[in-house]
Amino acid sequence: MRLLIGLLLFTYAPPLAAQSAVDTTGIGRLLDQAMKRSEVMQNLRYLSDVIGPRLSGSPAMRRANDWTASRFKAYGLRVRLEPYEFGSTWERGTASLQLLAPFNRAITAHSWAWTEGTGGKTLEGPVVLTDLSTPESLAVYRDKVKGAWVLPRAPYPLWNPDGPEMTAKDSIRLEEQRKFRASPFADTSIAAVTARRQFQVDLPYVLKAEGALGTLVDGSKEHALMTMSGSPNRHSPLPNLVISHEDYALLARRVGGRMKPRLAGTVENRVGREPVRQWNTVAEIRGTQWPSQAVILGAHLDSWDLGTGVTDNGTGSMVVLEAARIVAAAGLKPKRSIRFILFSGEEQGLLGSRAYAAAHAGEADSIQAVLVLDNGTGAITGQALQGRDDLEELWRQLLAPVSSLNADSVRSASKSGTDHLSFLPYGVPGFNFDQLPRGYNHTHHSQSDTYDKAVAADLKQAAAVMAVTAYQLANLPELLPRGPKSPVVPVPSKPSPGVAVRR
Ligand SMILES: [Zn+2]
Repeated sequence: MRLLIGLLLFTYAPPLAAQSAVDTTGIGRLLDQAMKRSEVMQNLRYLSDVIGPRLSGSPAMRRANDWTASRFKAYGLRVRLEPYEFGSTWERGTASLQLLAPFNRAITAHSWAWTEGTGGKTLEGPVVLTDLSTPESLAVYRDKVKGAWVLPRAPYPLWNPDGPEMTAKDSIRLEEQRKFRASPFADTSIAAVTARRQFQVDLPYVLKAEGALGTLVDGSKEHALMTMSGSPNRHSPLPNLVISHEDYALLARRVGGRMKPRLAGTVENRVGREPVRQWNTVAEIRGTQWPSQAVILGAHLDSWDLGTGVTDNGTGSMVVLEAARIVAAAGLKPKRSIRFILFSGEEQGLLGSRAYAAAHAGEADSIQAVLVLDNGTGAITGQALQGRDDLEELWRQLLAPVSSLNADSVRSASKSGTDHLSFLPYGVPGFNFDQLPRGYNHTHHSQSDTYDKAVAADLKQAAAVMAVTAYQLANLPELLPRGPKSPVVPVPSKPSPGVAVRR
């Protein structure tokens, strides 16, 4: 109720001349649909608990594409699945890892995605602690990995969550940031970035050639929460297993002691031989005045497979689906098209959105903006300007109608790690909404990313904010000024020639 009164006041107090470009007509209908008639939770529950985890390349990913297409269609939208070349598939098998010394105990381990198995063998050997972060540090440890399970870095520093405000982790993070700025990683030139990526592609081949048994990944969260990742562009020819931070830290401590750790691992996985296609689900409400121009609302539908991919990113994709329902059900006719895209392949390196942006590069100048939601279940708090501080005033106007939903913060910040990035090299204004954290650092890529973490009120709010901002952007009299265009940095996916040869 307070919300609706606020809106009336807003429409009765005419905005300043500079603000009059934003048309707020019809927003009350969008909010009514979002807050009172929401279908976001029932859709999310189906996605989470019936379709389940959606690893790109898996049959479940295709089921999710088909099911979301049918939902968009049921809401009255035009919809299609747009294919792209993804890479090889990967099927998870079993992974068992046994600590043999200094005492005997099973270690919970999961294969990092796109890693090979042990070929039916059990691989037993000592553990070595190394630093494989750069070619220089690899050179130091290269001849120490033969016959061993390899820890490729020191354990992540984790903090005491009940500690004082300035925690040990904060001070460690500041120290790490200082080190980072002084390190080769601070060089973001295309040549430096490409060389670092190629080094990461080559590394497991080098370790295999040197006779390493396998590598381990620090789960890097508390309380045995895992962090899953991997990509067909980072194929690992030797087993790479993520284990809990607690076990990783135990192994690292014992390496320096008298009773050295030993492990035995048996791993089964299946890596596909041929590259396959994947699909993005693309739905549209056609614009009445400039139908070839479009506002894109996006989120990735694919997920990791330890949980059911709810906060990363079932919530974002079901909010985008819900925003489509809201605009259609409110009966609003935007002047530009609003396109709703559920990307796949995000977790393997933004592959679906990169492919979409490349395939539509010729239309980039007619994409008004790309708005992505991918930071968990939390309510939207506002927008990060992503280098477009020239659009600050516009974003304040776009978010003013949802100020009573606490979604109107605008800050000068650039966010990484999701699909809006794929559009920036083409000059398209791309954004990833700020959200309340709601434990996202714990659920993200872990086995606890499940339906019970979703917060209904947050998701209704997020759908309202996305629908309202997209509708206003679709109705602006002008296209937004383009951002700077830059070359798309290629993603290396094959090891360098000769790298898999033992020296
Ligand atoms: Zn995500």
